[in-house]
Amino acid sequence: MLYRHNTKATHDFSAPPETLFAAIQSQNLTPTDKHAIGTFLSLKPFWGTPGEVGYQMLARINWGSADLEMTETILATDPPRTYRISQITAALTLCRHSMPLAKLSTQCKSRLMADFIIIGGGVAGTSAGAYLSQLGKVQLLEAETNLAYHASGRSAALFEESYGKPSTVALNAASRSYHVENKLLSPRGLMLAGSHDTAEAFENESIQMGLDLMSGAEAKAMVPILNTDVIDRAGYHADAWDLDTDLLIQSYVKTIRAHGGTVTTKAPVTAIEKTANGWKVTTNSETYEGAILVNAAGPWVDQIARMAGIAPIGFTALRRSMGRIPAPGGHDVSSWPMIFGAGEAWYAKPDAGALIVSPAEEDPMEPHDAFVDDMVLAEGMARYEACVTEPVTRLLASWAGFRTFSPDRTLVLGREPSDESFIWCAGQGGYGMQSSPAAGQLLADLLNGKTPAIDAGAVAALSPKRFR
Ligand SMILES: Cc1cc2nc3c(=O)[nH]c(=O)nc-3n(C[C@H](O)[C@H](O)[C@H](O)COP(=O)(O)OP(=O)(O)OC[C@H]3O[C@@H](n4cnc5c(N)ncnc54)[C@H](O)[C@@H]3O)c2cc1C
Repeated sequence: MLYRHNTKATHDFSAPPETLFAAIQSQNLTPTDKHAIGTFLSLKPFWGTPGEVGYQMLARINWGSADLEMTETILATDPPRTYRISQITAALTLCRHSMPLAKLSTQCKSRLMADFIIIGGGVAGTSAGAYLSQLGKVQLLEAETNLAYHASGRSAALFEESYGKPSTVALNAASRSYHVENKLLSPRGLMLAGSHDTAEAFENESIQMGLDLMSGAEAKAMVPILNTDVIDRAGYHADAWDLDTDLLIQSYVKTIRAHGGTVTTKAPVTAIEKTANGWKVTTNSETYEGAILVNAAGPWVDQIARMAGIAPIGFTALRRSMGRIPAPGGHDVSSWPMIFGAGEAWYAKPDAGALIVSPAEEDPMEPHDAFVDDMVLAEGMARYEACVTEPVTRLLASWAGFRTFSPDRTLVLGREPSDESFIWCAGQGGYGMQSSPAAGQLLADLLNGKTPAIDAGAVAALSPKRFR
C-alpha cells in the first residue's frame, strides 16, 4: 500500500500534533491504495523505550466492505522517508512515503508524552517515581543540577520507626523491609537524655518511642562525655539505624530507569496547564505532556499547586540547621547512639568519625536554598554543651534544610479531590527519608486501584481529602 501525498510537503515537527495533523490533512496526505482510500484519524506524540521518540498515526482504510484501522509509528531515529509499521490489522503490506522526517529527531523533543509527570527530584519524587514507573511511563523533573540538592541531601539520615504521628509510624514500619532488603541500614541506637528541668518532655518522649529507662551513670557508660550533673535520666533502644540516603535515592532512580522512565535535572517547572488529556508542563527548555501530575516539590508544593490552578493546602517550611564538630575529646564516637536532648532541644549523631549537632530548631520561612543562621546554631551548640563534659572547639562544616509540614504535621499522599489527575506527595516533615518506600508504594496502590498495604485509618489520615 502506498500513500498518496504531496512529495514537496514539509512539516514542522516541533508543532503540536493537532497542528501537524491539520497540515497533513490540508495537504491531502490520504492513505490510499488502488483498491481503497481512507482517512487519517489522529496523530499523537509517541514515546517508546528510552530514546524511541516520534509520532504515532492512526488511519482508517476502507477496504472493500471492511473498515480497517491501522497504526503507524514514525520514530525520530527512522531513516528519513520511511514509516515503520508497528501494527496493521489486516494483510496490508509495508508502505513507504516521502514525508520529510529529517528534522524530527531534534524537534519532536519539544512534545514528550508520559503517564506520570513528577515535579521534584528529592526523596519524595524519586520514591514516587520508582513505584509509579511500574504502572506507566514516568518523567521526573528536577529544577537543580543534582537530585537531592535540598532537604533530601541534608538530613540526619536516621531510621527510627516510632518517630512521628501514628500514620507516619505506619509508613515507617511498612518501609523497613525495603531498607533491609536493599542493605540501607546499619546499627546506630537512640538515646534520650533528660534532666530535672525536662522531666515532662522526657517522660512523654520515652513512652512514645518505647525506650528502656536507664540512670545518668548507665547512659555515661555508653556515651562517656555526658555530664551527669545535668543528665540524670536517660532512655535507650537499639532499634534505630543509620540510613544510607545516597544509596536510597540511587535505588529509586535505578528502578525508574529500569522501567523506561526518565529523570531530567536542570528542569525548573515554570508553567503548568490543564489539557484535555491531562497536563502540559513547561520547563525552561521543554514542554512535557502527561496524564497524571505528581506534586513532590518539597517546600514548594503549594507554589506548584497554584501554578496548576489547584488550591494550596498551607504547607510550612521549617528550617533546621546542622553543624559538624570534631569527635569530642578525641573519643572514638563510631559506636555511640544518636542522642536527643529531651524536648528536642538539640541532637547529636556520630558521622564519619565526627559528630553532627543540631539545634533542632523549627523556624518557619519562605522556601529557598536554606542556610544556617549562625546565632541559632551557636545557641543550639550551647544547649548541647551544657549536657556534656567536652567543649565544642571548632566547627568543621554547617548546613541547613527545610522540614516541610502540612497544617496537621502529617504527610499528604493521594489524589486532589478537586482534580483526581493531580497527586499530592508532600509534607514529609522530618521523616521523608525513612518513610519514602511505603509512601511511594501507597501512591502506586491508590492510583492502581489496589487496597493499600497500610491500614485504612492511616490512608485516610494521609489523604488530601482531610483539607478539602
Ligand atoms: C536537618 C534535617 C534533618 C533531617 N533528618 C531526617 C532523618 O533523620 N530521617 C528522615 O527520614 N528524614 C529526615 N529529614 C527530613 C527529610 O530530609 C525530608 O522529609 C525529605 O528530604 C523531604 O523530601 P522532598 O523530596 O519532599 O523535598 P526536597 O528534598 O526538598 O525535594 C524537593 C525538590 O523539588 C524540587 N523543585 C521544587 N520546585 C520545583 C520546580 N518548580 N521545578 C522542578 N523541581 C522543583 C526542588 O529543587 C527539590 O529538589 C531531615 C530534614 C532536615 C532538614
